[in-house]
Amino acid sequence: MSTVRIGFGYDVHRLVEGRPLILGGVEIPYPYGLLGHSDADVMIHALCDAILGAAALGDIGRHFPDTDPSYAGISSIRLLREVIAKIASSGWRLGNADITLVAQAPKIGPFIDEMRKGISETCRVSSGKVNIKATTTEGLGFTGIGEAMASYAVVTIIDSSMAPVRS
Ligand code: MG
Repeated sequence: MSTVRIGFGYDVHRLVEGRPLILGGVEIPYPYGLLGHSDADVMIHALCDAILGAAALGDIGRHFPDTDPSYAGISSIRLLREVIAKIASSGWRLGNADITLVAQAPKIGPFIDEMRKGISETCRVSSGKVNIKATTTEGLGFTGIGEAMASYAVVTIIDSSMAPVRS
């Protein structure tokens, strides 16, 4: 019998001057970027945590500690690739992913297709299995004043023995 499991991820990174803004694996033109040990891609970090959570494999900090210099400045897409490999060795593959960015600015609409393409290729699923959306908090709180960006992700993972389902 096949099994489907659900995972949830959440992440926050501070916005600072002098860093590129990388969201969903795509560099977005913007005067501020996210601060972090890796490229600080808050959306990919939430996604990785959701996938690891679904497989009961802990969290991104356990697998890629920010005390490890080999992860300094690393593309989070590479971390995502490793997360997919880790769940594959536990007998799981990604079913679908729904990722929400919480940011007052900039508008990410023009970049969503490119994000979905990169994420779905990395996760070895069709782009129809990956949804990306964004919301503001109406100027309220740390995301609303532009101090940080947050992201939430929900995923399903599927027993690898299950036949692929249509997108
Ligand atoms: Mg993070």
